[in-house]
Amino acid sequence: MKIAFLDRDGTISKEYPDEEWNSITEPILLEGTIEGLKKIKDQGYEFIILTNQGLISKGIITEKQYEEYTNKLINILKENNINILKVYHCPHRSIDNCNCKKPKTGMIDNALEEFDIDLANSFYIGDSYSDYELAKKFNLDFYGIKGRNNDDIFKYENINEIF
Ligand SMILES: [Mg+2]
Ligand SMILES: [Zn+2]
Repeated sequence: MKIAFLDRDGTISKEYPDEEWNSITEPILLEGTIEGLKKIKDQGYEFIILTNQGLISKGIITEKQYEEYTNKLINILKENNINILKVYHCPHRSIDNCNCKKPKTGMIDNALEEFDIDLANSFYIGDSYSDYELAKKFNLDFYGIKGRNNDDIFKYENINEIF
C-alpha cells in the first residue's frame, strides 16, 4: 500500500506552545485538512500519523491525555470519511535517547514491519525540520506546511494546497 505519512501538530491540527498543552482537550483541525486529505485518499493513499510527544516525558501531559486527544482527532477525521491506518507517537525527549523521536527512524521502521508499505510511492507531510529530515532518510517526497518555519522547504499554507 502507498502511504501518506502525516505529522499531527501544526500539520493536520493546531499547534500550541508547550505549556498550553496541558489544558488543550479539543482538537482543532487546520483549514483545508479535510479537503486535502480527501484528495489524497481519492488517489489511493492510506494515512499514518507520526507524532513527537515529548511533553509526556516532560510531565506536561499524561499518556492518557495524549490518547484522549488523539482519539478525538481520529474520530473527527472518521466523521469526515478519513480513516487513519495507525498513529505512532514518541513520548520521549532527547535525553531519553530513544530510537523513535523524529528525525530518528523508529516510528517508520515500526510501520514498515507492521504494514506492507510501498515506500517508493509514499510521501510525507509535516511542518518541522525533524519531519523533513526523517522523510529524507527514507527518500520520501516531502511537502512542508508553513507554520513557525520561514523556509522554502515549508511552502504550503495547508494540506489542501499541496495537490
Ligand atoms: Mg508538527
Ligand atoms: Zn521515542
